[in-house]
Amino acid sequence: MTEQNAITNYLKYAGIKELNIKAALVDCDGVLFDSMKNHSRAWVKLMTKNGIKCTRDEFYAMEGMVGTEVIKTKFKTGAGKIITDDEALALYGVKGRYFRELGEVPVIEGTIDVLNALKERGINSVLVTGSQQASLIERIDKDYPGIFEDRKVTGHDVRRGKPNPEPYLKGIGKAGVKASECIVIENAPLGVQAGHAAGCFTVAVTTGPISEKELYKAGADMVYPNMAALLAALPALLEAKD
Ligand code: MG
Repeated sequence: MTEQNAITNYLKYAGIKELNIKAALVDCDGVLFDSMKNHSRAWVKLMTKNGIKCTRDEFYAMEGMVGTEVIKTKFKTGAGKIITDDEALALYGVKGRYFRELGEVPVIEGTIDVLNALKERGINSVLVTGSQQASLIERIDKDYPGIFEDRKVTGHDVRRGKPNPEPYLKGIGKAGVKASECIVIENAPLGVQAGHAAGCFTVAVTTGPISEKELYKAGADMVYPNMAALLAALPALLEAKD
């Protein structure tokens, strides 16, 4: 897939004449931070301690869902237990502790360069995550200075997490532009589905074990192997007048 082809496809299904990106909607886990390894470890520990069999891959597949929804889903399918909101929140607190105990996660290499390059072109970034993980959300302004300011949508702001488009629709609202004027930067299939369903030009970067093919299948307009490749493609994506 070339940028030109991806843009031509997008213009056709979005029913617009040209791509004019004015805002970037940016996911957190797997895009800002290399955090999915530790998240999946913490999830498996929580589930195992509660007698629920699972693999780490399952949590990569559920990445983007609001944490308490992951707990409700796994307890229901894995143990036939219906969990209340309060119980799910308490268990999410335990998962958060396991996550923190695994140590500080590194940033994803090159993401800051992409976000700075967007900013230099007058494109503001909005954080859009289903995460409620305070230990990460509090680090964002330190690791990504001047990028998001108060433009943040987290798991606390949405009723329905990804793959529902609600988080991205809220992000579009914070950006104050049209859906078709936003580029979504994602790494996970459910996040890609959400960005696509919200009507944005959706880019995915394979920063974990999820394949390029799966991300295209989820609805990505373009998939890149790393942030350096996305950075190199920005002129083609942003200056396209098809
Ligand atoms: Mg992600």
